[in-house]
Amino acid sequence: MLRAVRDAVGHPAPAPVRLAKVVDVIAKVLRADVCSLYLRQRDGAMALAATHGLRAEAVFSTRLAPGEGLVGLAAAATGPIAIQDVQNHPSFAYRPETGEDAYSTFLGAPLLRSGIVGGVLVIQHVADRSYDDDDIEALAIVASLMAEVAADPDFLAFVANDENAPTARIAGIRISPGLSIGVAAMRDPPLPIQRMVAEDIPFEIKRLESAVERMLGELDNLLSTPDLQTSGEHRDVLEAFRLAASDDAWIRRIRKGVEQGMTAEVAARRVQTEARVRLRRAPSAYLRERLADLDDLAGRLVRGLALEAGEPDFAELPKQSILFAHAMGPAELLELDRSRIVGLVLEEGSLSSHVAVVARALSIPAIAGVPGALSIVQPGDQIILDADHAQALLRPAAQVLSTFKASAAARSARKASYANTGHGPAHTRDGHRISIMANAGLLLDVETAINEDAEGIGLFRTELSFLGRSGLPTLDEQIALYSEVRRISGGRPIAFRTFDHGGDKTPAALINHREANPALGWRAIRIALDLPDSLREQLYALAVAAANDDLNVMFPMVAEVDEIRQARAILGVALNQAASDGKAPRRVNVGVAIETPSLVWQGERALRRMDFATVGTNDLLQFTFAADRDGVRMNDRYDSLSPPALSMLRHIVRAARRAGTPLSVCGEMASDPLGAIALAGLGIKNLSVSPSSVSLIKEIVRNLDTTTVKKLIDELIDSEEHSVRSQIHEFAVSHGLPLEE
Ligand code: PEP
Ligand code: MG
Repeated sequence: MLRAVRDAVGHPAPAPVRLAKVVDVIAKVLRADVCSLYLRQRDGAMALAATHGLRAEAVFSTRLAPGEGLVGLAAAATGPIAIQDVQNHPSFAYRPETGEDAYSTFLGAPLLRSGIVGGVLVIQHVADRSYDDDDIEALAIVASLMAEVAADPDFLAFVANDENAPTARIAGIRISPGLSIGVAAMRDPPLPIQRMVAEDIPFEIKRLESAVERMLGELDNLLSTPDLQTSGEHRDVLEAFRLAASDDAWIRRIRKGVEQGMTAEVAARRVQTEARVRLRRAPSAYLRERLADLDDLAGRLVRGLALEAGEPDFAELPKQSILFAHAMGPAELLELDRSRIVGLVLEEGSLSSHVAVVARALSIPAIAGVPGALSIVQPGDQIILDADHAQALLRPAAQVLSTFKASAAARSARKASYANTGHGPAHTRDGHRISIMANAGLLLDVETAINEDAEGIGLFRTELSFLGRSGLPTLDEQIALYSEVRRISGGRPIAFRTFDHGGDKTPAALINHREANPALGWRAIRIALDLPDSLREQLYALAVAAANDDLNVMFPMVAEVDEIRQARAILGVALNQAASDGKAPRRVNVGVAIETPSLVWQGERALRRMDFATVGTNDLLQFTFAADRDGVRMNDRYDSLSPPALSMLRHIVRAARRAGTPLSVCGEMASDPLGAIALAGLGIKNLSVSPSSVSLIKEIVRNLDTTTVKKLIDELIDSEEHSVRSQIHEFAVSHGLPLEE
């Protein structure tokens, strides 16, 4: 059956003819009176693309809105659904042009790939009959093959060819600024149609077995690398992954697919798709992690098999890719080929997600919080990503494209003009100096920051450069990185923050535990104090890189003064060691990132012990509002420009003043033009912003009058409104402050 389907699909005829043959074949083999194929259209509707049994004139004129009819039910299901007495089913949507009233049963399967429904395959019978497990399994098998077909560019183009391919606009939130034009790309391109059906089943099983062997061998090699020789948590994690990999159950499931006639790739892809579908619904964090492992393993196997069959590496992204994904971790973005990515659209995530930090560091325009984006875009669609306005235009009309290009040109001219006039320190209109530094984590953004004339690096995220790997960096790697950061910065001050691991930034080497709430779990200084040798090593590396110069070092996620005491003790040991090696810094300033409400409530006491402090509003506000910084539903829920947030910040500013400790703000709020205005109004004298925002924020400062803005914030802080953003916006507009890059 599969071979007949494959032959029909691969026949050198136009797409509609091929699909017509496919449904004939399926109807014949499954002895069905009707076989219909619905393909998802650009707008999410399901269009009848081919049918055996329904009226031919219904092809492409019958369209069902998303969720409509039994087809809509099947599209939302995770496997085939069987329905008897169709006409009386509450979801039945009668379409007279199809002649469907003659049939009383329905068996429909979603065409699922990479968590996206590409269409629905349906069989129907005149006689009222119930479908048994064999029928259901047979349809599921053909459906997994047809899911690859539905994602093939040939068929996508055919579906897109109709007039129902409107320009679409999707909106989310801006997580990394910028404008770009590119083509939509996904992470799992379809498998080549020629390689879908096993010609020789025993041979295919051998291929599968040797691919599994190879994969296990690779994991063993990984486990025997010197880094992992000592026993430890990271080793346990990889061991667990290795165990999952050799687990018989999922390999047996792939093997069964091959015995049913699929190639090993298609069968492995099917298991991967199943893992993804279950992943989205899995109730427990433990189960989600197991399923994510399975997704990863099956994906590795698919790729290994395709490469072995001589296919080009399909993990390679097209040039000028605008990558669409449900969610993404920071390490994953670092692992992808950056030279090919010009934009990122995520269904989940928010401005303060770590993937956003990485996107900004790499200057990749990005928007997030766009649920359903994956269901209306297809690989190869032209995309305008206007991250500045938190939107993307899919398949834009020519006129839209030219308007966009003009505005992109105007934007670069404006930016160039800020940069020309913008160098040098920034003073407000009434003569107060506000220093504008930049946040960085990669050498690349240290360079951008210096080119933009940031006055220093107000936050260097030391963990970011090492995220793409499973283990911790060596001492030498660390010394090399920190020295290079210092060299590029050319003597400007840098605040090095010790590793902020945990949350979504955990190297595999450290994960051996399942946490229900990783953001509230084993993170940052908590890990550092539990693994004092690693912290000492990092502090030693920072000291050596700063030999005979000044070192500013700070600790993330501190929750109480006592943690500062412990960290300082470890710092003392590291500094003694550096001194006995003749490499001590000239002076060491110790700082703290204020990121937890508990530290705020020890504010003055904590700040008196510190040489400097910086407010990490991303974490501090998520904990203050008890609202996940990555949660899509939380994006608009609370505002940093709201009375509770501003009051808390004012409390910190006053504590720092009393303690006589220099204070800065390095969270994303400082890079938001309205946020920067509010912070200036609260009396903050040092902002650390994303490198690309340096010129704009300096320009704002230069146009600001501190007395007026202070008065505004003093008034707004007592308001009972959900947000005072619009009032600050009005203020900015009426005072002619620039708000856009
Ligand atoms: C913050 O929490 O505001 C911060 C700057 O740290 P990160 O975004 O790296 O967690
Ligand atoms: Mg933080």
